[in-house]
Amino acid sequence: MSLVGGILGLLAGIALGLLGAVATFFVGGIGGIFGAYIAGVNAIILVGAIMLYQNPNSAHTWGIIILILSIIGGLNIFALIGGILAMTWKPSGASAAVGAQPISRICPQCGRVLEKDVKFCPYCGKNLEK
Ligand SMILES: [Zn+2]
Repeated sequence: MSLVGGILGLLAGIALGLLGAVATFFVGGIGGIFGAYIAGVNAIILVGAIMLYQNPNSAHTWGIIILILSIIGGLNIFALIGGILAMTWKPSGASAAVGAQPISRICPQCGRVLEKDVKFCPYCGKNLEK
């Protein structure tokens, strides 16, 4: 699952959380205060989700914040999953750099640094084509 999928889950969770909060608010009394509290926590989760989307490098930090908020905000399971996804998600730039080709290579015979595309080693004449 991608980060975008996680954020979509997060937004669905926030929508459900706010819906529940509004429903609780109309019941009134202590329920109303609780509803306002849930709505407030979910609003902070929403801010976290936006921050996460705009700055994927801080996904881990916001993932933890969302995780904690989703628990104290009436156990919002969608936000909880979104938070876990954000925590485990790695920016795609980091994995792309690992697979990048090296700009030079070493001659297996004489050990000198060679151009990437040479067919013969210019120092010892070794055939580098396989
Ligand atoms: Zn060589």
